[in-house]
Amino acid sequence: MLTRTSAGFGFAAALLMAMPLSAQNFPTDDPVIEAIWAEGMESSHAWTIGQAMLDSIGPRLTGTPAADRANRWAREMLAGWGVDARIENYGTWKAWERGVTHLDLVEPRIRTLDAMLMAWSPGTDGVVEGGVVTFPDVDNAAGFDAWLPSVDGKFVALAMPQPSCRPLSSYEEYGTEEQTDSVRTERSEMRTAWNARLEAIGYARADMLAAIEGAGALGVLWSDWSGGWGARRIFALNTVFGAATTTIPAVDLSCEDYGLVWRLASRGQAPRLRLSARGTFGDEVPVANVIGEIRGTELPDEYVVLSAHFDSWDGGSGATDNGTGSIVMLEAMRILAETYPSPKRTILVGLWASEEQGLNGSRSFVHDHPEVIDGLQAAFNQDNGTGRVARASSMGLVSASGNVADWMSRVPSEITKYIDLSFPGTPSGGGSDHASFICAGAPTVGLGSSSWDYFAYTWHSNLDTFDKIVWENVGSNATLVAMLAYLASEDDRVPRDRRIMPVDSRTGEVQVWPTCEDGARETSDRYR
Ligand SMILES: [Zn+2]
Repeated sequence: MLTRTSAGFGFAAALLMAMPLSAQNFPTDDPVIEAIWAEGMESSHAWTIGQAMLDSIGPRLTGTPAADRANRWAREMLAGWGVDARIENYGTWKAWERGVTHLDLVEPRIRTLDAMLMAWSPGTDGVVEGGVVTFPDVDNAAGFDAWLPSVDGKFVALAMPQPSCRPLSSYEEYGTEEQTDSVRTERSEMRTAWNARLEAIGYARADMLAAIEGAGALGVLWSDWSGGWGARRIFALNTVFGAATTTIPAVDLSCEDYGLVWRLASRGQAPRLRLSARGTFGDEVPVANVIGEIRGTELPDEYVVLSAHFDSWDGGSGATDNGTGSIVMLEAMRILAETYPSPKRTILVGLWASEEQGLNGSRSFVHDHPEVIDGLQAAFNQDNGTGRVARASSMGLVSASGNVADWMSRVPSEITKYIDLSFPGTPSGGGSDHASFICAGAPTVGLGSSSWDYFAYTWHSNLDTFDKIVWENVGSNATLVAMLAYLASEDDRVPRDRRIMPVDSRTGEVQVWPTCEDGARETSDRYR
């Protein structure tokens, strides 16, 4: 069973958070700011919320039972704080459930490999065993066709092997300058050559995979190193290859183990693999956002939106993408329910589904709720890891810059001293759910965090797990968001005049304000 907030966690939480309980000494005579500080910095629930979410529920891939469990858990949590909460369906996605993956190298020696089924991949029926062939180095379709029969009863190693899984930073620290330069060059040339090798086949990706399946392959092997020690990105095969298998498993291996299997196969040392992998498909199932609302007392038809995507990839637990953003928004909502229960405007938290497949949850919400966009005072979105908020802008809205600057000036400098403000900034066309709001010209503040090794280690990776979270930062970010929400709720209406768009230095063209799109209301073609 899922564990809700329970008193039992309090002690461990207090120990592990190691929150520096420095008293706030910023001069403010605003009792709500003082109360938010006390609640957010001195009585944070971030650890407790995150532990239940990430350890007990785990990753929240769209269309999986875990995503549903997470939605119900979040609704219950919000309701427990007295926040009006609902699960709002906006469409469907194909059902899929991950089971256990187990992959062993059984010849020429025994080793249990670090491997897992890719998202939305078919599994095996029981245990399958066979040799390995590597993707061919041929010049044309005839060469590929001649190679094709060799895959019968074998696993096909389909990804580029890394000659070394040692991060470049290690060369930078220990190597000579020449070594580091040559590794950097080699790695980039290798990528170019690999892409040419894929193109030389003369098959579209989907046709290539269909041919491999049709020729009797047992499965395809994949690996996507993210450049850090032991870290790899685990997506769906469609995401990284442009097409997926339909009947045989696509299995992702660590950089180290994929390289081992590739070297054995390409050096004639006859590796044999034994695989058991469960992946269960169902029909299209409803997918939903979780919405929590504290109704405004004076201007209920105007909104402050706290925004984070709740879904994740499932190679890890979805801890920093976007467990942390979700925890920040949930915790901010808890703080607000406690310290500002009768807001001037309606405060709404949106935990979005399917951001990872194209901002589908938030785009659908924006499309379905023109009243929220018309009445939007400000939306705050966070989605890039466990760092302190380090950047913010008004995303291209000129006069709104003044409002954002004013709010920031009222937040204690213990928090704002780490934030670079850039005004008016530019509207973002994608990357996270802020794009779903700013495209409509509705006031949106993207809160950008400092990296904490996000791209080399945790983004969409096997290592995106609970232990990577820096709780002081999450607590501070939740406090910031609660304060900004309160200040935005109380302020005069935020204007929407747009900046003159800058010239794109690459194209020489004047950039255009991004246009809004609806979310995919069923499994998009790319993932079918
Ligand atoms: Zn994300």
